[in-house]
Amino acid sequence: MLPRDRIEKIFALSTAGLSARAIAKQLGHAPQTISDYLNGRKTPGLRAVSRPDLFTDIFAGYCRQRFAEDPHLRPSALFDEITELGFKGSRSTFYRGLTRRLLSPPDHRQPRTQEDPRQDPFEMPRLSMHAPRHAPVLPRSVAPITGETLISYLTRLAQANHLTLTEVLTVLPSWFSTKINNHDDRAQHHTLIPATTQALHALAHLARTTTTSLARALPAFGTTDAHSPVRATTACRRCTARRGIHQPVPIHLPTHHKICTRHGIWLSDADHPHLDLAACPEIITAQHRANRLLRRYTPQQLTLAHQAAARAIPSWPTSPAAIPLHWRHRLLILQTTNHRNNIPTDQDDYMHAATYPDAITLAAAILHAPNSHATQQDLLAKSPCPSRYRQL
Ligand SMILES: [Zn+2]
Repeated sequence: MLPRDRIEKIFALSTAGLSARAIAKQLGHAPQTISDYLNGRKTPGLRAVSRPDLFTDIFAGYCRQRFAEDPHLRPSALFDEITELGFKGSRSTFYRGLTRRLLSPPDHRQPRTQEDPRQDPFEMPRLSMHAPRHAPVLPRSVAPITGETLISYLTRLAQANHLTLTEVLTVLPSWFSTKINNHDDRAQHHTLIPATTQALHALAHLARTTTTSLARALPAFGTTDAHSPVRATTACRRCTARRGIHQPVPIHLPTHHKICTRHGIWLSDADHPHLDLAACPEIITAQHRANRLLRRYTPQQLTLAHQAAARAIPSWPTSPAAIPLHWRHRLLILQTTNHRNNIPTDQDDYMHAATYPDAITLAAAILHAPNSHATQQDLLAKSPCPSRYRQL
């Protein structure tokens, strides 16, 4: 928008008989701008009305976080999540928003190579719908871990029976090879759905376990809630050790599930070290509080509120008396206690764990606020740059 005195000058020159082109040349503006004012397409004092961007910072932030938490997250599933949160745009607006903000899952950023087995399931060879006629049974059964990825379970099953993964896949329906090559257990492609029940029975038979326990634990069989947002992590090492498993077990957990409350372990995102929370029981209590919030709110609402809250937590307490309850105090305790386990102190996970009780308290306040969406906008506007946390 041009300043008022400049607009008055445009009209004065026009009244004096100058053309729009001549005025533009004299005042140093585009001829189109001058004719827009002279022809009333622009009104002095009013900004041009642009179409509102439906893919707001809140949705962009939500998408960025979700891609970080779940590297295999499909944009179509993410579209469903943000639609549930109130995104009013179309699918193409959503994809345009992702492109404009350079948002994509890390898994999709690398160009696929010749050797990469991932393909469009349409191009896959026709699936064999039948298990081998004389289906073998393995001598050692292996119990699945809740949320475990299919490839992890099959690898553990193979190892327990002194076989390779390829050998195990050979005696299973081709559904399993296709599913593993797709790298996304939760995507239930329509070409795979008809053979899912048969695949489940074949694996239960081979592994000498029940279809119920497999279906309940492994998201690959699609019986768990496919619409709740999940993140990639590894199972609590103490939970798996109780079952005699001493290797990391990759799993998908609901996004709000941050802590093994039984063992007080902070379950960082995949490839990050887990943290022992025993010295800060209030962090474990906060997980129970987050679970209770799910009685009233959807997992997407809680995730979004938690994100907004995490950005808005004050960096320093307002009163010295509050220091023992403050997240920086917790941060120091966590770093000290976990450093003994050879976990480097520069991990962001410490900060996420230390701020968690404050973030959940604030998230609850956001969710309980009468106009929750406006409150999040407000917090987002006030939130400082997240990089300030890295300066610790
Ligand atoms: Zn545990």
